[in-house]
Amino acid sequence: MSAHIIDGKAFAATVRAKVAGHVSRMAEEHGITPGLAVVLVGEDPASQVYVRNKGKQTVECGMASFEHKLDADTDEATLLALVERLNADPAVHGILVQLPLPAHLNSDLIINTIAPEKDVDGFHVVNVGRLGAGLKAMVPCTPLGSLMMLKDYHGDLSGKSAVVIGRSNIVGKPMAQLLLGANATPTIAHSRTPDLEGVVRQADIVVAAVGRPEMVRGDWIKPGATVIDVGINRVPAPEKGEGKHKIVGDVHFESAVEVAGAITPVPGGVGPMTIACLLANTVTAAARSANLPEPEGLTA
Ligand code: NDP
Repeated sequence: MSAHIIDGKAFAATVRAKVAGHVSRMAEEHGITPGLAVVLVGEDPASQVYVRNKGKQTVECGMASFEHKLDADTDEATLLALVERLNADPAVHGILVQLPLPAHLNSDLIINTIAPEKDVDGFHVVNVGRLGAGLKAMVPCTPLGSLMMLKDYHGDLSGKSAVVIGRSNIVGKPMAQLLLGANATPTIAHSRTPDLEGVVRQADIVVAAVGRPEMVRGDWIKPGATVIDVGINRVPAPEKGEGKHKIVGDVHFESAVEVAGAITPVPGGVGPMTIACLLANTVTAAARSANLPEPEGLTA
């Protein structure tokens, strides 16, 4: 039996529509236009594409977009001064510094200089701590999008066992915290986990955030489990022509789709949800800054 395909592209469109609805209500009822500032240092081509997409979708949802492009050799003091200016700017509700930064810049210092309430990536230590403590936080976008898809598909996650493969600060760890907060029972697996296949086979929910193309095979998956594939891996695709590439996930889709109950594809699964959740976090930050109620359906 073939699994239900969780359509991240369609789901992201519904999240963006909710964001746009909240934005127009905030403008009409409170005269507030949520604003997102994105800071890009250097010329990394992938980062330039991300920043362009973020800016475009921000504007399409009715929000203000502020792009700050700095040269690759920008010094730390200049970047910190810009972050401080954005922290103080009342038109800016969300600040995102595009990672990775050039090697001469201290990413931790810069991220932790962003005002926690404007940290729409959820990477500031205050937000990491608040999420861990079960308090209101800004939640990292990729795990937030993954949780939204899981809740939409399952409703209640209580009683579900989950395995998150990967323990990074941006995906694996916050994903496990969110699952715990939703009353699932998560296990975090990583490169030193013995019998990874056996661990994965126990889980009702598998979240793969490893960065290894198609590592998780169908025969690792418990029949009927829900599989969220966070991986984005560029691999050669000779079948498309010489020198061509394609994007695959961390899960071997063709075998997993035959065993799982539901699965996210790559591309078109978690990826589109990440930017949608960035927009959601910006609206949430704007609402919190004005002491308005939490925007419904956009938070964990
Ligand atoms: P990291 O490289 O920071 O973390 C990878 C994790 O996977 C580590 O915890 C590592 O373990 C673990 N790991 C590596 N190899 C193995 C293995 N053989 N067995 C078990 N665990 C292993 O990656 P990220 O968390 O940043 O990203 C993970 C994937 O998600 C990547 O493909 C990335 O491109 C994608 N991604 C997608 C996003 C989206 O928008 N859809 C956003 C962010 C990331 P250890 O800690 O022991 O080294």
